[in-house]
Amino acid sequence: MRIEAAVRDDEPIILFDNVFKSFGDFQVLKGISLSIAAGERVVICGPSGSGKSTLIRCINGLESYDAGHIRVAGLALGTDDASRRAVRGKAGMVFQQFNLFPHLTVLENLMLGPMRARGMNRAAAEEIARRYLDRVRIPEQADKYPRQLSGGQQQRVAIARSLCMEPGIMLFDEPTSALDPEMINEVLEVMAELAGTGMTMLCVTHEMGFARRVADRIMFMDHGEIVETAPPERFFSAPESQRCRDFLQKIL
Ligand code: ADP
Ligand code: MG
Repeated sequence: MRIEAAVRDDEPIILFDNVFKSFGDFQVLKGISLSIAAGERVVICGPSGSGKSTLIRCINGLESYDAGHIRVAGLALGTDDASRRAVRGKAGMVFQQFNLFPHLTVLENLMLGPMRARGMNRAAAEEIARRYLDRVRIPEQADKYPRQLSGGQQQRVAIARSLCMEPGIMLFDEPTSALDPEMINEVLEVMAELAGTGMTMLCVTHEMGFARRVADRIMFMDHGEIVETAPPERFFSAPESQRCRDFLQKIL
């Protein structure tokens, strides 16, 4: 398959056209269409099992899809390895679990991607690693091992690690769900700052304060469909669907 590299200015940075995906008999995405502009900040919420993780994992090729079309940063994302690899370099992902390498220091964790995937030498990789460790406000933790850090600090390292790949898009899948309550805000703060830099961001989160403050749009998913999309003011004050009202009542 041919991979187109050019991005038109007016083209959405993420485009789903009628995307379907099943696990065996279970249909997890039921005709998802969406369009996200460069620099947009979108929060995805919805009940557990509604397909949120599957949707964002499709964006960087971690999950394949069965039907429809996906374009990311001007690339047609097919089911072939080449296009999935190409897209993965454009979209960084932060998970609920931090997935840091325990036997590497913070700095080494951050340098790995730039050296292995971007072909940088040690000096260049270290420079970029320190830059993004600064960005997440823990430059003093560079030589520690992950186990010596709090959960909030580890998640900030994980965010920095994604940023070291200098992606145009950052995907977050419930990045604060595994954290103790007192550490949630430090991670949300870093994410809010990132949102202020013009980064395109898609966050699956149930932190509705963050959504209200940072999101341009909120998407509500249920049973494999995007049921409702609205800017935060409208989403919280006048949700259109009963499913969305029920959900909000449970979490707010
Ligand atoms: P959410 O993130 O909204 O909780 P997911 O996208 O993780 O939802 O999952 C949606 C549904 O798909 C769930 O019912 C889940 O059990 C199922 N599912 C997710 N991943 C797999 C998988 N690898 N194999 C089989 N079923 C899966
Ligand atoms: Mg999930």
